[in-house]
Amino acid sequence: MEELTDADIADLTALRRALHARPEVSGDEVETAARIATELAALGVDHLVTGLGGHGVAGVFEGTTPGPTVLLRCELDALPIEETGTPPWRSGRAGIAHLCGHDGHMATMLGVGRMLARARPAAGRVVLMFQPSEEDGRGAIAVCEDAAFADLAPDWAFALHNEPDIARGVAHVPDGLSSAPSVGLRLAFTGVEAHACAPQDGRSPAAAMARLMTALPALSRGAFPEEDFRLVTLTHARLGEPAFGIAPGRGEVFVTCRTCSDATLAILETDIYALAQATANAESLEFELTEHDRFLAGVNDPDAAHALRAAASAVGLEAIRGSPLRASEDFGRFGHDCPAALLLLGAGPGPALHNPDYDFDDGLIAPGAALLLRAARAVLDGAAGI
Ligand SMILES: [Zn+2]
Ligand SMILES: [Zn+2]
Repeated sequence: MEELTDADIADLTALRRALHARPEVSGDEVETAARIATELAALGVDHLVTGLGGHGVAGVFEGTTPGPTVLLRCELDALPIEETGTPPWRSGRAGIAHLCGHDGHMATMLGVGRMLARARPAAGRVVLMFQPSEEDGRGAIAVCEDAAFADLAPDWAFALHNEPDIARGVAHVPDGLSSAPSVGLRLAFTGVEAHACAPQDGRSPAAAMARLMTALPALSRGAFPEEDFRLVTLTHARLGEPAFGIAPGRGEVFVTCRTCSDATLAILETDIYALAQATANAESLEFELTEHDRFLAGVNDPDAAHALRAAASAVGLEAIRGSPLRASEDFGRFGHDCPAALLLLGAGPGPALHNPDYDFDDGLIAPGAALLLRAARAVLDGAAGI
């Protein structure tokens, strides 16, 4: 079995920690992308593509004969959260930190690159895709729609995400839904400001907002991951200005909607629009809805999922179908054009993803790299009944 050497693991661990110390948020991954491009060039990739969908970087390892293209994907971005953990490699940038483990995913992918540099695919090719802007849902769509991506279009796509909620040594690879679709909705209401001594002269959105802040979460129903699951979470609200002399004339409510299918999410959005519009009309308010951070459903193709489970078992992990990710993951976009699957690699127990004291478990680099490479070779070789 192909494995990283101890020297590889030491190098990749040091690299992971260096990336952790210099995090960049979605859409701003300039330094990270440059570092990755340098690392890929040093590995001797056959093609290096930069600027994909923003700051995305891809390194291509060609086989000796033509064949399918396998894309392995990781993410470049960190989160706008202050790190409270105190490892020696703690974020050196205030208010920004790698708290989802994307630093570790990048190191894992470069581990795959080291092994491919030593033994290229016999046939076909492997694309190592370092995708920007995963955390806001924009990156995968931007990469897939970038004209330069047409030359890299995959026949298969795989990714992994570390998951502290899953025990270490266990890998979840569901058939079907792998990550929930979601969208953020901003509901903005405009009435008329008035003096606080005469609120009857204005039109305040307060009552409409109060009703919706109760009614919208009440649209939630069902249990994840059942088909009828709907979750509406209130994430932000603002009314008027922080002053005592003004009866407010403007307000906004933010909600995040989450379901188990893109179709159910569309129905939920229609329901929310109708309810908010009716509530605004009843108070003679202007109403505007805008959508943000849309994530499509991640759906694992059964053959691709099988390849990942077989690869995980081969490297000594307990590979099970398990539960899908209740969070959203924009990798789902890659599955629109080819068979794709996402593996959730157990990292637990420990702080959850996006917790301020989370840190990637470096012990996942070696098994993660070994299993991704094994899955890629399996589909390129047409092995394992795929
Ligand atoms: Zn995240
Ligand atoms: Zn993540």
